[in-house]
Amino acid sequence: MINLILFGPPGSGKGTQASKLVEEFNLVHISTGDLFRFEMKNDTPLGLEAKQYISKGELVPDSVTIGMLKNKMTKHPEAKGFIFDGFPRTIPQAEALDQLLAETDQSINGLFALQVEDEEIIKRILSRGATSGRADDLDETIIRNRISVYKDNTLDVYDYYAAKKKASTIEGVGSIEQISNRLRKAVSATI
Ligand code: AMP
Repeated sequence: MINLILFGPPGSGKGTQASKLVEEFNLVHISTGDLFRFEMKNDTPLGLEAKQYISKGELVPDSVTIGMLKNKMTKHPEAKGFIFDGFPRTIPQAEALDQLLAETDQSINGLFALQVEDEEIIKRILSRGATSGRADDLDETIIRNRISVYKDNTLDVYDYYAAKKKASTIEGVGSIEQISNRLRKAVSATI
């Protein structure tokens, strides 16, 4: 089994690159952002709860997020591994993920952090907002809050896996192909 975390600030290209890695390594892609958007679109109780946080650029509480992730993982008993995109975003989420994987004698092989400067991220998200239909991509104040939340809460997750010698940084600027080549090399060297 191969379990990878694709890490990085909002707008760093995690979703795009995850789709490439999924094809290459035959993994199941789990994006907690996509899962929340699906719930919101269907007006489920989970979606309605998540919306209160997502619309402000805040994190959805850990208990809700971890429960949703567990649920999704149990739907894929056939998986040869997972690529986690946008999860974990807090230390309790990282600990829960490690524990969950340990229950089936698995672990995270590596965390790969896409590095992109703040101003570039803001430009990318605003241009994505023109077509993504995501309210949280349209308002620069919300985008800046998402970046602050990343710095204040999520960056610790990099250190958590770095302490286990499992974290690496990938230059997230360039063409999609250039970035996916860098990632592919880094992932291949890890597994
Ligand atoms: P994303 O598509 O990954 O940028 O996520 C969009 C929004 O969903 C985030 O700004 C958060 O509000 C919420 N979200 C996604 N993943 C998580 C997570 N792991 N923990 C808490 N909130 C999350």
